[in-house]
Amino acid sequence: MRVLITGGAGFIGSHLAERHLNMGDAVDVIDNLSTGSIENIQHLEENKHFNYVIDDVLNVDVMRELVGNCDLIYHLAAAVGVNFIIENPLSSLISNIRGTEIILELANEKKKKVVLASTSEIYGKKNGHVPFTEDSDRILGPTTVIRWNYSTSKAVDELFALAYWREKRLPCVIVRPFNVIGPRQSGHYGMVVPRFVKQALLGHPITVYGDGEQRRCWTYIGDALDGLVALAVNDKAVGEIFNLGSHFETSIKDLAEKVKDRTASDSEIEYVPYDQAWPKGTYEDLMYRAPDLAKIRNCIGYDPSVDLDNALTEIIKHYER
Ligand code: UDP
Repeated sequence: MRVLITGGAGFIGSHLAERHLNMGDAVDVIDNLSTGSIENIQHLEENKHFNYVIDDVLNVDVMRELVGNCDLIYHLAAAVGVNFIIENPLSSLISNIRGTEIILELANEKKKKVVLASTSEIYGKKNGHVPFTEDSDRILGPTTVIRWNYSTSKAVDELFALAYWREKRLPCVIVRPFNVIGPRQSGHYGMVVPRFVKQALLGHPITVYGDGEQRRCWTYIGDALDGLVALAVNDKAVGEIFNLGSHFETSIKDLAEKVKDRTASDSEIEYVPYDQAWPKGTYEDLMYRAPDLAKIRNCIGYDPSVDLDNALTEIIKHYER
């Protein structure tokens, strides 16, 4: 099989490329390096089944050729990370909405299957019904708070994919990852785990926003890949939406303590009020996010096995290197 991974030089994309190469598939990657990095894929360059293009998914001519040559598309290219979205609201909307529209339109010309990476951010704030099931209501703040840009743009992507499936029978699978973590993830664009690990290793303050009581479930990259790859080749997954997450849950405060402990760091844990962490009116936190995993378990037998402690061991090793 020849697999196309948009955003393949990013954290998840580069691991996915490696997984497919190990499975004996050929892999094409396209990435504009906005948040991805060439170091993530450098070790794959020698593999003769690996090919990468540094360009943008908005470049229709390049995309048409890549889509025409592949058997399966993972569309991961997107503006990601709260910091990035807040600093680049316009280009985020364009990448996430127009980029997906282009991929789906080209895929539809040749009826190539698309696995669309959506997000658990889709659900928005806790609405009294956590854990979230795939048909949970979405509760978002106002459009003036830039954070909701991401959730909304990804919701538009999902609507496009569902419409292409319903009206054109373009095979699409929609996946909503929950806080995926692992080696190669950058903290530069906002993600809390690499930020805390880096801060702890450098002896800098570990910056907990708000009171640290907000809670997340952590999904290790290896488990996330198991889910993604199994969904991509399962006919029952077509036209469906799946949560991709874990039940390995902590508060952010406990995460900070765990990272400090695991790195034997002298760093202080510093509680930063939201209005000092973010320009006023741009950010609103989510107090609780957890997935209901019944649907993905029933479809592919998904059973995440790497807990936060084991995930941190790998991430800390990576950052130490
Ligand atoms: N967070 C934090 N310190 C940081 C970065 C993030 O306390 O330096 C918090 C953030 O406010 C949120 C949680 O960690 O409650 C997860 O943030 P992240 O941006 O990683 O993901 P998301 O909010 O999308 O789950």
